[in-house]
Amino acid sequence: MSTVTMNPVVPEGVSLPIYMDNHATSPMDPRVLEAMIPYFSGKFGNAASRNHSFGWEAEQAVEQAREQIARLIGATAKEIIFTSGATESNNLAIKGIAEMYRERGNHIITQVTEHKAVLDTCKRLEKYGYRVTYLPVKADGLIDLDDLRRAIDDKTILVTIMSANNEIGVVQPVAEIGKICHEKGVIFHTDAVQAVGKIPVDVQAMQIDVLSLTAHKIYGPKGVGALYVRRRNPRVQIASQIDGGGHERGMRSGTLNVPGIVGLGKACEIAMQEMATEAERLRAMRDHLRARMEAELDYVEVNGSWKHRLPGNLNMSFIYVEGESLLMGINDVAVSSGSACTSATLEPSYVLKALGLGDDVAHSSIRFGLGRFNTMAECDYVADKVIGIVKKLRELSPLYEMVKEGIDLSKIEWAAH
Ligand SMILES: *Cc1c(COP(=O)(O)O)cnc(C)c1O
Repeated sequence: MSTVTMNPVVPEGVSLPIYMDNHATSPMDPRVLEAMIPYFSGKFGNAASRNHSFGWEAEQAVEQAREQIARLIGATAKEIIFTSGATESNNLAIKGIAEMYRERGNHIITQVTEHKAVLDTCKRLEKYGYRVTYLPVKADGLIDLDDLRRAIDDKTILVTIMSANNEIGVVQPVAEIGKICHEKGVIFHTDAVQAVGKIPVDVQAMQIDVLSLTAHKIYGPKGVGALYVRRRNPRVQIASQIDGGGHERGMRSGTLNVPGIVGLGKACEIAMQEMATEAERLRAMRDHLRARMEAELDYVEVNGSWKHRLPGNLNMSFIYVEGESLLMGINDVAVSSGSACTSATLEPSYVLKALGLGDDVAHSSIRFGLGRFNTMAECDYVADKVIGIVKKLRELSPLYEMVKEGIDLSKIEWAAH
């Protein structure tokens, strides 16, 4: 007899569906929207128009946003280049540096759990004669700094390692990486999309030379991002990948997305003011979610380092549960699974596989991405829902039954078909 609740009571103040996928994108903060609205209508000027007040007004708003972004990461306004998002920022950084420093060398170092915007960019450069080293990660998702030291040679021009991972929330030792790169005279780029606004990021203290960020992961609008490019000690040069009117100091042409840029600036200003208290709140919710599931379920595992982790990330495997059934069972909660839909097949996440997880375990994994607008009541509902469905699915799982009876699955000889 099943005693499992499949449909827990929806607590007061909680409305369904619940959004818990903030690493994919975040809802806009109403304060960001409010700041943007005037720039869609009355203040519609082109920031590059030098001859009238419409242009000056737009330019002033853009320069204020540059300041707001710079302040959040310890940079100066002149070091901020606006882009269409972090995919473009990563492309511009990696291709732009590869092109500019080609005489000096053709070797780039990255690591295996990077976002596709970094990995695919590196792959393309390999076609053009660049050599790329993909560092492995340890079981906790962190790179080994000795691997990095060993990988740098006299042809290395760039190290690109993300600050925090978008699936498992693991935070790399950015300051140590920056130190190693500067000792060896190699440029250090970091995809800091998931870190900026969530944990302290300081390009000076961490010796970061180039940094990618995007508005829509920090409660800003989609389609706008920025690239920080260091101007001194050392001065980094980037070959433009989009040519035209010479905007953004010649590094990225194209009329600026003024409302989007205003939104990105406002999102950074809010993050600067609220990051510390928000992180504490997210960590409390995340810890609660984990504790509830671990209290009521066996064979659950957290993926990636618990210590070096974003406050809003929980990535868990529910072993002996079929991933797709699990997601279907919690269809009023928006989360991500450890499967990536590539063409028609469900591929296990390459990030989870890099940690050494088997395909089955990767498929049974869920990323809970907590954000500014989640509540503790939502966490309780999500915990109830997941606990219910996992128990239910395990009642139907012969594998789980066998494990409970003490049978060692690795010793079984399965009949061949
Ligand atoms: C979302 C994300 C990106 C891509 O950013 P867009 O602005 O959507 O292009 C790049 N890197 C990481 C780590 C991300 O999470």
